[in-house]
Amino acid sequence: MTSASERTGVLEHAPDPAILASVRGILRDKVEHLAEEVDELGTFPAESYQALARAGLAGLLIPHVEGGQQASTVTYAAVIEEIAAVCASTSTVYMTQMHCAYPILVAGSPAQRQRYLPGLCSGTYYGAIAVSEPDAGSDAASMRTSAVIDGDAYVINGQKIFISNGDRADVVVVFATMDRSRGKDAITAFVVERGSPGFTAGQPIHKLGQRGASTVEMFFSDCRVPLDNMLGPPGSGFQLAMRALAKSRISAAAQGVGFARGAYEAAARHFARRGMLDASSSDAQDVQFELAGMYADIAAARALLWRTALSVDTYGDDAWRDRETDIAVTKLHCTDLSVRVAAQAARLLGEDGDRSDLGVERRLRDAKVTQIYDGTNQIQRMLIARAIRRAHA
Ligand SMILES: Cc1cc2nc3c(=O)[nH]c(=O)nc-3n(C[C@H](O)[C@H](O)[C@H](O)COP(=O)(O)OP(=O)(O)OC[C@H]3O[C@@H](n4cnc5c(N)ncnc54)[C@H](O)[C@@H]3O)c2cc1C
Repeated sequence: MTSASERTGVLEHAPDPAILASVRGILRDKVEHLAEEVDELGTFPAESYQALARAGLAGLLIPHVEGGQQASTVTYAAVIEEIAAVCASTSTVYMTQMHCAYPILVAGSPAQRQRYLPGLCSGTYYGAIAVSEPDAGSDAASMRTSAVIDGDAYVINGQKIFISNGDRADVVVVFATMDRSRGKDAITAFVVERGSPGFTAGQPIHKLGQRGASTVEMFFSDCRVPLDNMLGPPGSGFQLAMRALAKSRISAAAQGVGFARGAYEAAARHFARRGMLDASSSDAQDVQFELAGMYADIAAARALLWRTALSVDTYGDDAWRDRETDIAVTKLHCTDLSVRVAAQAARLLGEDGDRSDLGVERRLRDAKVTQIYDGTNQIQRMLIARAIRRAHA
């Protein structure tokens, strides 16, 4: 007998079960045992990421012809949740690869796609995306990094900040203005390769969480990049960055669900060891009810995440403007949830909530920054408020 979900076709859009099974196997065998050490020592999780890449799982959103797995956004979101539940730093490296590959897929020439995408999907190249600057974060349109044409090259000058994977990156999608007086209409994307003269990356910044995922400053001092390295037409960069955000906000939301789940599971394991999840343990009913509430909150956030990912799959990435509010709601809800659930798990554990070996405090630290990157949650509220104003105008 077919279930209601099969009859309505919902299962057709569920995450790819074969991909999920492969990811879970690799996380269990190659990633989980390293996660605590990656956090403690702040080591870049190359081994964990490369285990996923070797299994052909690192280019999910990229079509087969470009070297990827051509999976749906729903599958991608589910995979990020799985990785984040186990190792935050690995999930950030993993999704940053996609955040670099995606603008190249959307705006790159055939030659650019051929040059960069297979390497980003196989893990041969590390990638980064550089938008933020010391004085231009939420308001990306006010960026100062400039690009001017000079003979056979564009010359880039300026500074970027908080760039994930930046010190490792072989390929960086850099956004720069070609005329600051024209605001966002002059912002243009370029591909800058490691070793380009005038391009340097700083040392990883010490952080609260996700300590293995490096985050660095970047400096461009008369950095010459070939004319062929412009990504899309001049002035198309801001729209490209906004379109890329449709994917990266889903990444952050999926991490939020994963971190919440990691904290919940760590707490549940601890209580199970102490016999507090036994049916006979009636004095532990409060704990069981709190866990039940966390479980339900995570399930609801996942449903929201999948629904939004499915709408991106259904209507296409170029319709990002129509999805902007849904994506903002999802990013806001899932990342706020991760901090709330991780804090709840820590509280429930009492003094054990402070112990690093249980993994709850790690998830709490890892979760915090999801409220900040890919557009802070105040910015998500601003976008949602704008939609509310429009609806009631
Ligand atoms: C670990 C980490 C990794 C990152 N990785 C990358 C990366 O790979 N690439 C990249 O380009 N960037 C990256 N970022 C940067 C990140 O996207 C920015 O930090 C973020 O967009 C916020 O910008 P800001 O830090 O300049 O804050 P600001 O924009 O200066 O904001 C400061 C505060 O003011 C609030 N605020 C700002 N404007 C408004 C407004 N209009 N209304 C209400 N409140 C407002 C913000 O919400 C925030 O609370 C990363 C950041 C971190 C911490």
